[in-house]
Formats: sequence, C-alpha cells, structure tokens
Amino acid sequence: MSQEKSTALENKMDISIVVPLYNEKESLPYLMKAISETLDPYGKSYEVVFVDDGSSDGSFDELRALHKTYGPKIKAMRFSRNSGKSAALNAGIYHAAGDIIITMDADLQDDPAAIPDMITKLEEGWDLVSGWKKVRYDPIGKTLPSKVWNALTSFFSGLKLHDFNCGFKAYRRDAAKSLDIYGERHRYLPVLAHWDGYSVTEVAVPHHPRQFGKSKFGAGRMFNGAMDMITLLFLKHYLKSPLHFFGLVGLILILVGVGVLGYFGVVWAMTGLMRIRPLTILALGSMIMGIQFISIGLIGEMITHSQQTRKQFSIREKL
Ligand code: UDP
Ligand code: MG
Repeated sequence: MSQEKSTALENKMDISIVVPLYNEKESLPYLMKAISETLDPYGKSYEVVFVDDGSSDGSFDELRALHKTYGPKIKAMRFSRNSGKSAALNAGIYHAAGDIIITMDADLQDDPAAIPDMITKLEEGWDLVSGWKKVRYDPIGKTLPSKVWNALTSFFSGLKLHDFNCGFKAYRRDAAKSLDIYGERHRYLPVLAHWDGYSVTEVAVPHHPRQFGKSKFGAGRMFNGAMDMITLLFLKHYLKSPLHFFGLVGLILILVGVGVLGYFGVVWAMTGLMRIRPLTILALGSMIMGIQFISIGLIGEMITHSQQTRKQFSIREKL
C-alpha cells in the first residue's frame, strides 16, 4: 500500500468529513444540515465525502438531491455492492482533500457540534482524536459487551482509551492516509495509528439514539471483533517473521516428544521392557504436531518474503 493515499488532482481543503453509509436515506438531509450549521460559521473550508456502501434504499438518490442543493461541498461515491464500513472509510479517506479528516457515522448518532472541540484537540498536537461516547444511547446488549471489549483492547494494545470503535474521529491528514483499513479493521483504527507511532487521545462526544433505520451490526460483531484482535496482535508481532511464533511452538512440542520418548528409550535399554503407553502415543503426536508447526512457520516466511508490497513503515513527515 502506498504511503500517501490520495488522488493527485484534488483541491486543498481545511477539513474533510468522511461519512460511510449503508441504507441511511432518511438521516442524510438532517446530517448534512447539522454539519453545515456547525461548519459554515466556523471559518474553515470543508467538504463532506459521502461513501454509499451499496445501499438499496435509495440513499444515493438522496445524495444526488443534496449535491444539487449544497454543490461542491459534497463529494459522493457509491459502491457497486455492500463492502463493509472499513472499505467505505478507506475509500472516503482516499478521496479526502482536507488537512484534517473527520470520520462520522451517517445515522445521526454522532453530533457534528462536537467537531470544533475535536479540532482544538488536534491543534494541541495530537495526530488522532477519537470520540468517546461517555453517555451512550444504545441498547444494553450492545453497551455491556462493548465495555468488556474496550477494556480488553486497551489491555492488549497498550493504548488507554475508553471507546475504540466510536465512528466519530478526527485525524491529521497523514495519520488518516497512512492507515491500512480493510476487512473489519475499522474497530481498531486508534490501535493501528498508535502502533504506527502516531499520538492518539480521546474527547468525550455527545451521542444520540438512532432515529431512523436500524443498526447494521448484529451479535456477530463480538466474534468478529475477537478474531480481528488476535489477527492484529499476531500481525503486529510476527508479520515480519512468522517462524518466530510457529517455530517456537513447534520446537516446544518436539522437545516434549523427544523428552518423553527418550525417557522410555532409557527404560527400554535398562530393563528390556518396551511398552506402548498412552504417554508414548501422546509424545509421538506432539512431535508430529511440532513438525507441522515449523512447516506452517516456513510457509508463513515464504508468504512474507513474496509480499514486499505490504506496508512495513509509515512516514510521518517529509522535507
Ligand atoms: N455502515 C456502512 N457499511 C456497513 C455497515 C454500516 O457504511 O456495511 C455505516 C452505517 O450506515 C453507519 C455507520 O457505518 O453510518 C455505523 O453503523 P451502525 O450505526 O449500524 O453501527 P452502530 O452504531 O450500531 O455500532
Ligand atoms: Mg449507529
């Protein structure tokens, strides 16, 4: 992935608001109105980049109408199919021309009135300001697992935040453009930025109940979130050298097997008794598994070796 992800022919802009949306037709006019009520008097140039993630409710027709009303303040694009919030954020950030890039949900749960506060925080020198839904208007079935998940993410990532997955965030341009957002990694953007060496903080933001439509994420989010955390931790530590992980596990398994079989070998040499005991079978299994782990590690090394295009560093500034 290239470092500076942006289109070449773009007008410079102070602020880009990136809004991923999937079937949010009713909310869009209110959202656009609220954004312009906050940003028109704010005195900075801005654009709103709407990314329609394959809606089937006519959201894009609504965007066409809004584009007529608001003109070039609105950029909009439509995916050919639903590709997920991460993909939508990726496309929106790619097309954003602003020095500051704000992302927010389309469903009116995030309040644009908080944007100036977030920008003030960025101007203090932070690279990423993440929204914190301190008082949250979501069903308990969502807020409780979210608390647990946030605590775990905080523990494993080493980044102290209350609310990692808030859709409302403000970035300095290069921090946003350096993110490699695919799969369902939108849940971990502060972690990715933090691991890349960008400074991350949070501000409390107001939150509202969903007014129209319904949430696009079901119970599957917990399982997916957990799997993504394992992937991230693994990639962070072992992307460059998969054999360091698989080799270690493999070696331990082989040593256990060799130790146990060695012991029975000595017993056999001394007493002449050779028995197949459950433990010998276990030891054999352990050795076979160990060899498999090492082989997987080697395959991992070959994949890493042939994937030199993947991001290995993130440039913070250029002179
Ligand atoms: N979204 C999207 N693509 C999807 C799912 C969701 O662009 O596949 C958008 C959605 O329209 C909204 C934001 O991501 O603007 C957050 O989604 P939602 O409000 O359903 O999440 P929740 O608030 O329930 O966590
Ligand atoms: Mg929502």
